[in-house]
Formats: sequence, C-alpha cells, structure tokens
Amino acid sequence: MATDAPSQAGSGRGTAGVPDPVVSRLPLYLNALDAFALEGQPVVSSDELATRCGTGAAILRRDLSYLSASGRRGIGYRTADLAEAIRSFLGLNTRRDVVIVGVGRLGSALAGYPGFGDFGFDVRAVVDVDPAKIGTQRGNLTVRSTAELPAIVEDFGITLGLLTVPAHAAQAAADHSIDSGLLGLLNFAPTLVSVPAGITVRNVDVARELQLLAFYTLAAHPQAEPEGEPRREGVL
Ligand code: NAD
Repeated sequence: MATDAPSQAGSGRGTAGVPDPVVSRLPLYLNALDAFALEGQPVVSSDELATRCGTGAAILRRDLSYLSASGRRGIGYRTADLAEAIRSFLGLNTRRDVVIVGVGRLGSALAGYPGFGDFGFDVRAVVDVDPAKIGTQRGNLTVRSTAELPAIVEDFGITLGLLTVPAHAAQAAADHSIDSGLLGLLNFAPTLVSVPAGITVRNVDVARELQLLAFYTLAAHPQAEPEGEPRREGVL
C-alpha cells in the first residue's frame, strides 16, 4: 500500500544501488516464495513466481539478478534460498520492534492487528498526546505519552514508527519521532512530512489507491459508470 515513489529522503536509488521499483517488488516475491514453501514446493520457476506475483518473468529475472540470485536454467530457483536472499537484502533476518505514534481509530486498529508478527515486526509501544488516552490499554499495550518516546526508543532499540496522527499534527509528530531516535516512518496522514537526510518516510494512502482502483475499473468497464449523486467535497 505504500506509494511506489522513492522514499522522500531517498535519491530514487534503493539500497546498494538497487533501483527503488526493484526494491518495492522484492516483498511481493518474498510473500509468494513463502507461500510456495508452505505448499511444499522446494523449487520454483521464474514463470511460476512471476505469474503468482502478477509481473513478467523477464522483469523478475532482472530484479533478482540485483541480488546475485540466479536460477538454474530449466530447473528454477530454490524456494528457501531465494527467500533467504531477499530477506537478507531487505534486512528482515532479525525481528524489528515498531512504535505507533497516534492511537486513535487507525492507530488502535493497527495496534490490535496480530499479523505484523508474521512478517517479523512487533508493535512494542503505542504513544499519544491525548491525556485521556494515556494509561489506557490497546490489547496488552498501555498507551504512553509521546514525552516518553525517546526513552521507549532507547529501551527497545526501536528504529521504525507508524505515524497515525491527523494531517495537521503530522510534521510535529514526525519531528518528535526523529528527535527521539526513529529512523524510518510509515506515514498514514494524508500529507507529506519533511525529514532530514538519512531518515526514510513511506506514505500509505488507501484513498489514493481507491481513486486509482476506481479509474482503472472504469477504464476496463466503461458501462459501469455509476449513476447517482455527484461527489461531495470531503474534509481531510
Ligand atoms: P484519530 O483522530 O482517530 O486519531 C489520531 C490520534 O493522534 C489521536 O489519538 C490524537 O490524540 C493523536 N495525536 C494528535 N497529535 C499527535 C502527536 N503530535 N503525537 C502523537 N499523537 C498525536 O484519527 P484516525 O482516524 O485514527 O486517523 C489517523 C490518521 O490516519 C489521519 O491522518 C487520517 O487521515 C489517516 N488515515 C489514513 C488512511 C490511509 O489510508 N492512509 C486511512 C485512514 C486514516
């Protein structure tokens, strides 16, 4: 869901000179490889992997060549080895703790989602500025004050934060998160935040994805143009 655009602080090239579009496809390959492994398939062809990921086999082979992962002609890739190579490249060999900044509707929902653990991410803390929320529970986590963020980051060695605050508060929350020691932010607020060099921000925007989905769906099925009320202006 994160935008495919380069990280706001990035130069358009990913880690070790690998282009960002290639990096952004690697998690897709990894998920598919994990699924093949679960299905008991030790070797997978580039065609099979590409089909499952909805990409072309030539693109997939070129992407994987950046990792020096070469399949054996006529045989394919060893599922576990390739998954390991991608995990290693993405730095996913060790579990990562994350903190949620802003515990409203979205932050609470994300805090209660158990599925991040399957991807190696553990929500270790949740913080907010609202005194009415501080001290309340989100699952087994107690909401703590953003004033405690530097200590939380240090105690748990957290580098990643989910920013789930209103748009008007996003820049201040990002600044405080970075001052507290976070190095990467997943920003859900519908606004861009400025960050210093070396800090990575990825923006998640479901509304934008819906707009694109509506566009492409209509382009494929022009007869499905909805009738009814014209759209109303929304309020962010
Ligand atoms: P909400 O109002 O329910 O919750 C926001 C929380 O942030 C509140 O608890 C508030 O006290 C807290 N907060 C405010 N300033 C803060 C600060 N400086 N530091 C820490 N916490 C702070 O809002 P919501 O519905 O949960 O939405 C959160 C954000 O996510 C909004 O920006 C919303 O537009 C966005 N959103 C994005 C998507 C998406 O697809 N990207 C989807 C839904 C919501």
